[in-house]
Parts: sequence; C-alpha cells; structure tokens
Amino acid sequence: MSRFPFTDQLFETNPFEFSVKNKNLFLKSFQENALTHYQNNEMIRGFWDLEGIHPTQITSEEDLKKAPFTMVHLFKENALKSVPDAELVLTLTSSGTGGTKSRQFLNEESLRNVKKLAFKIHEALGMTSSQKYNYLCFTYDPKIANDLGTAFTDELLTNFTGKLEVYYTIQWNELKKDFEFNKEGTIQALKRFEESKLPLRILGFPAFLHQLVEEYNLHMTLGPQSWLQTGGGWKGAQDQEIPKQIFRAHIEERLGIPQSHIRDLFGMVEHGIPYVDCELGELHIPNYARVFIRDPKTLAFLKDDEVGLIQFLCTYNSSYPAFNLLTTDYGSISTCSCPIGKKAGNKILKIKGRAGITKHKGCAIKALDMVRK
Ligand SMILES: [Zn+2]
Repeated sequence: MSRFPFTDQLFETNPFEFSVKNKNLFLKSFQENALTHYQNNEMIRGFWDLEGIHPTQITSEEDLKKAPFTMVHLFKENALKSVPDAELVLTLTSSGTGGTKSRQFLNEESLRNVKKLAFKIHEALGMTSSQKYNYLCFTYDPKIANDLGTAFTDELLTNFTGKLEVYYTIQWNELKKDFEFNKEGTIQALKRFEESKLPLRILGFPAFLHQLVEEYNLHMTLGPQSWLQTGGGWKGAQDQEIPKQIFRAHIEERLGIPQSHIRDLFGMVEHGIPYVDCELGELHIPNYARVFIRDPKTLAFLKDDEVGLIQFLCTYNSSYPAFNLLTTDYGSISTCSCPIGKKAGNKILKIKGRAGITKHKGCAIKALDMVRK
C-alpha cells in the first residue's frame, strides 16, 4: 500500500471536476503531504509549531488558509528537502544567468506524481492524443540539459501524443562549450514540417517564436491539426510583449494554427503544477492545487478579481517542502466562459506580473540572450 493513499487517489480524478468528493480528496491529500513534511523537516515543523497548528487540523477549505506558508526566496537561497539525498531521483533547475537558481527536488513517488498530474491536466483540456506529431521545441536538447526545468517540461509534453521527429532549436556547441539557438536549422525544420503535411506541435517561449516569425517574415500553413504550446512568459522581452489574445490571432494568421490550439502554460520550478490555457486562452486552476491571492502589505486574503501576491498550495511532492508557497508574482482569480469554466467550482488564474524580475532571472532570459546574439 502506498504511503500516500489520498494523494494517489487525487491524481486519478479529473482535475476540473470540483465535486465534494474530489475537493475532499485534495484536503486529505494536503493533510498527508503536510504531515510528512512536518515529521521530516525541522524548518516546516518549526513554522507549524510557532503557529500552534498541526497538519491533522486542516480539515476544511477554510483551514487551508491557516496553514503556515513559506516564502519563495527561502527555496532560492537554500536546498530545502524533507528526505535524505539518496532518495532523490531528479533535481529540476531553471538556468539563471547567475546568482540564485530555482530548484526543485523530486524523489521517485513525487516524480511519478508530477508526470501523472501533468498528463491528467492536459488530457482534461483536450491536448493529449494518440495521433503522431512532429515536434519543434524552442528549448535545450534534454539529452544534454537534463536538469533544466524547461527541457524536462518539453520532454514531458512531447510524451502526451504519438511522436515523429523532435527538433530542439537550442543546441550544444562543442567548440564554444555553450548552448546556442540554431535559427537557420529551425527555419529549415519548420519548412520541412509544413511540406510533410503531418500535424506539428511547437513548444517554446512566445518571444522566440514571435521574433522568428517577424525576422523571417514567415507565412505558413501548418494546418488545422497543428498546435502551439507556449510557456515561460515574456521575461526579459517585455518591450516586445504582445497581449495574449493578439498574439494568438497573429500566430493563427502567420502560421496557420487555429487559435483554439494555441495554449500557454504558467509554471514555476518551485511549484510544479502546470496552469494551462483552455481553448479560450485562460489558465485554469486544477483541483490538484489551491491558489490564494494575498494583499502584499497586510497579507489579507483577497476576493476574486482583486490583484495581489499569488500563493500556491499543492500536495504531490513528499521530498521538497514547497507545498504552501507565497510567491512574489502578482495575479488574480477569475472565471471563464469555456465549457470547463462553466462547470461548478472552476476558476482561472490571471497573471498580472512578476515581481523582482531582475533578482530572479530565469531560463527565459538566458534563452532570449541567445536569440538576440
Ligand atoms: Zn476556459
């Protein structure tokens, strides 16, 4: 029997089915996850003891608000774990341009959970398929960059469908001993994929693709079965940033990918739950997580559509104690009129900006430096 039976059950359920039973499973899963960190991590136990609360006392949605949170910078400055190093099977790192890095540590069951929950979320959003696709990934070749969060995400995402050729645009240059963006190779791959008439999935940073479309004045017809899945935001390229809905229309016009197949993903290396666009381009919050919005000065819990600091709760990782994380990103919670949004309990997350960008340079910035070279 599993050590975390409620967590196992949670990831068998539909992530956008907020039934009483499923919401209760999240609570039970949170309780068992918080308890393992409380028992195995001195810092977490200290926070909870200081508040005079024990994980077994979290029995309602309202109780979740009383659970002590940790600030995201603690995870950037320290290698926080709740298991011995020998139990870890993967460390995800975002490739910063120096200074602090974002990391997440995974033991075997957490890695299994993170793969499972990502599949269930994409499946529920109609993004998985048994059909075979060519792939164009605007990221590092994961064979070389196996500890980078984005490369891991791409490898994970390419496994949600049948696979033909996978082309990675950021390649290792053995002479320079560094990664570089192979622009010419990328254009050739795109043309080859267009001519093949087979469906294509493009994965990558929106700024990368946008710059390529403009620079090479691309006008392509990739076809009604092709997809674009973006992530990583416009960090470091805010001057070029295009509002999401305009970007979607522009890509449809220039690459011939239907807007309903253009999906963005918001994720953090420290959090691990993907917030993925529905067909209308809104980031849906799954029942595998809870999102609170807090007033940046008073930390009061804000109502729907009010903008504040984003706090993320999740339950899948028993090795890394970021199960209740207060971030420095701003956002709000709202509703969506798509078929999933109309189902009871479903909410969306609107990202309103990331605080301290210069302090937390992420992989998107490193990658953009390469585009500009
Ligand atoms: Zn929606």
